[in-house]
Amino acid sequence: MSKSKLEYIWLDGYKPTQSLRSKTKIENDFSGKLEDCAMWSFDGSSTEQAPGGSSDCLLKPVYIIPDPQRKNGYLVMCEVLNADGTAHESNGRATIEDDDNDFWFGFEQEYFLWDNETNKPLGFPANGYPAPQGPYYCSVGAANAFGREIIEEHLDVCLDAGLNVEGINAEVAAGQWEFQIFAKGAKEAGDQIWLGRYLLERIGEKYGVSINWHCKPLGALDWNGSGMHANFSNGTLRTAGSKDTFDKICEAFRPVVKEHIEVYGADNHLRLTGKHETASIHDFSYGVSDRGASIRIPVIVPAKGWSGYLEDRRPNSAADPYKVAARIIKTVKSAVI
Ligand code: ADP
Ligand code: MN
Ligand code: MN
Ligand code: MN
Repeated sequence: MSKSKLEYIWLDGYKPTQSLRSKTKIENDFSGKLEDCAMWSFDGSSTEQAPGGSSDCLLKPVYIIPDPQRKNGYLVMCEVLNADGTAHESNGRATIEDDDNDFWFGFEQEYFLWDNETNKPLGFPANGYPAPQGPYYCSVGAANAFGREIIEEHLDVCLDAGLNVEGINAEVAAGQWEFQIFAKGAKEAGDQIWLGRYLLERIGEKYGVSINWHCKPLGALDWNGSGMHANFSNGTLRTAGSKDTFDKICEAFRPVVKEHIEVYGADNHLRLTGKHETASIHDFSYGVSDRGASIRIPVIVPAKGWSGYLEDRRPNSAADPYKVAARIIKTVKSAVI
C-alpha cells in the first residue's frame, strides 16, 4: 500500500485580505486524480468563516497538481462551502461565470521578498535606504538583484508542478519580483496564481524570508508598489478585427469603477496615485501602450488589426484573482457590441 500526502489548500475569511490556509490528508493508494479527492472539512471558527457553535466548513477539491517538494505529495486547491453545501461568502471562485472557459487570463504577480530581521525588503540596509530606483528592474549582479536563489527555486518548483508560468523578472524596487501565469479559463488562472503564491510562501519559510503581498509596503516613499495586472481576452476580443469592439468593451468599464476597485485589493488608493506607472484611483482611462492608463491596449492589438487582449493595470498584488476575474468577466459580458 502506498501513502500519499494531499495538501488541501483554501482561502480563509479574513477581511479585507484573505490568506492561504492548508492541512495534510493522508490517502492510501491515491490515483492522483481530482475525482478521487474526497470532500473534507475544517474548523471555520479559527479562520473567520464560522461561529464556534457551528464551526464546520467544507473543503471541495477543485484543482490538483503534484507537489514537487514533498515525497508522494499533491497540492489540492479547494473551494470553501457552508455545511449545507452552498458556496461560502468568502468563496470568490464560485462567483466566476465562465463555464465554457471562453475567458483567458494572464496575471502578472508582483511581490516583495521581505527580510524578517530588518522588517524591510531584501537589499535594504538595516538603517536607511539603498540607492534610488532605476538599476533594479530586470537587473543582474549582487549590487542590484536580491534573493535570486529564492525566485529561481520557486520557478523550478512551479514548472515541476505543472503551473503555466510564462516568465519572471526583477521589478522596479529593490527586493521586488514578478511571476506571470497564464491559463485558458478564469477559474484555472485563479487556481494557478493561488498555488504559485502558496509555493512561494513555503519556499520563503526555508530561507526565513516572508513574502510581502501588500500593494505599497514602503508607503508613500518614492518606491513602486506591487500590482497584479490582469491580462484578459475572450473569443470576442481575440477575433474582433475592429477598434470599435475594443472601444465598446473598454467603455463598459467606465461606469463600474467602484465595483472593480472594491475587489482589486486592499489599500489600492495608496498605490493608484497616478505616479509609478499607475492611473489615479479616481479616474478611468484606456489607451494603446499607455502604462499610465487604467486599461492598456497592448501595442500588438492594433498591429494585428485590432484583435487580441486587454490589460487592466489596476488590480494589486494582494487581490484575489478569482474575484478580479469574476468582476472583469461580468463587465466584459455587459458590453453591447
Ligand atoms: P508587461 O509587463 O509588458 O505588462 P508581461 O509579459 O509581464 O507584460 O505579461 C503579459 C501577460 O499577458 C502574460 O501573462 C500573457 O500570458 C498574457 N496574455 C498574452 N496574450 C493573452 C491573451 N490573448 N489573453 C489573455 N492574456 C494574455
Ligand atoms: Mn510584467
Ligand atoms: Mn511588472
Ligand atoms: Mn503588465
